Amino acid sequence: YKISMTQMEVLGVLGRGQYGVVHKVFHKPTKVTMALKEIRLELNQRALQQIIMELDVLHKARSPYIVDFYGAFFSESCVYYSMEYMDFGSLDRLYPAGIPEAVLAKITFAVVRGLQFLKDELNIIHRDVKPTNILVNKKGEVKLCDFGVSGELNKSLAKTHVGCQSYMAPERIVGPGSGPSGYTIQSDVWSLGLTIIEVAIGRFPYDNSGFANVFDQLNAIVHGDAPTLPADRYSDMACDFVAQCLNKDSKTRPTYQQLLDHEWMKHAESDDVDMQDWAERAHALFLARTSKSS
Ligand code: ADP
Repeated sequence: YKISMTQMEVLGVLGRGQYGVVHKVFHKPTKVTMALKEIRLELNQRALQQIIMELDVLHKARSPYIVDFYGAFFSESCVYYSMEYMDFGSLDRLYPAGIPEAVLAKITFAVVRGLQFLKDELNIIHRDVKPTNILVNKKGEVKLCDFGVSGELNKSLAKTHVGCQSYMAPERIVGPGSGPSGYTIQSDVWSLGLTIIEVAIGRFPYDNSGFANVFDQLNAIVHGDAPTLPADRYSDMACDFVAQCLNKDSKTRPTYQQLLDHEWMKHAESDDVDMQDWAERAHALFLARTSKSS
């Protein structure tokens, strides 16, 4: 089944990324509301075809912790990627409301399971774990998106990447593993640790305002102490989990299975948390904030 632009009715803009706009669309043949992500890379026909082919493996990727993939196509020199529409958008919109530890643990559990699925089932490393790539729907489900499934696409994105790279693990900045080819599972675990702290405290853990430039920030990641969860607001279990993710020595950072075996995740798995209620409240606060500021 081939998905194409002519089948789409554009309903609105969901967000803007570094490479283009994400639209909310209605897919007329199936009557499904989807999110359509545009990636503007000015690529040649061969590279575009390669990317579409590589994205095809996602048709097999079904997990409750991964945003469903519906298909990809290209038009002019852009790649279009259609995926499950997640009503409440990305986590960065929902965290300013403050997140209780039980909710934080459930979110973390979903992300670790999603990352483990990508690795075990598709043999892929996410490469871009951060709150804007964790989406929430109105059922309160938490799913990962934007993973590095296509080698060709990773290559093109790496070449043009100009944004803030501060979710990078220390070993990505210096040493033999640095550069786009040195990406490993362990680097995703570091980014996961930073993401958990960001969601908990409501801002990026390295205080950007204290740095004169981006090199200062990279310096702090490599030479400074790793950030920690605030011990006065989170349990020892939670703090220990995050400290293990942010172990500066990548070789002794835990695997996904070790993370899932951690007592914090054992609690998260068995705890009964009303994620739908949390998501609805956090989203209502997001809407109230954005309507006030516009
Ligand atoms: P970035 O380049 O920062 O990763 P994206 O281009 O992936 O951003 O997405 C921009 C924004 O669009 C996201 O922050 C999110 O709020 C929204 N968005 C992306 N995918 C979806 C989706 N499947 N459903 C709903 N909103 C989405």
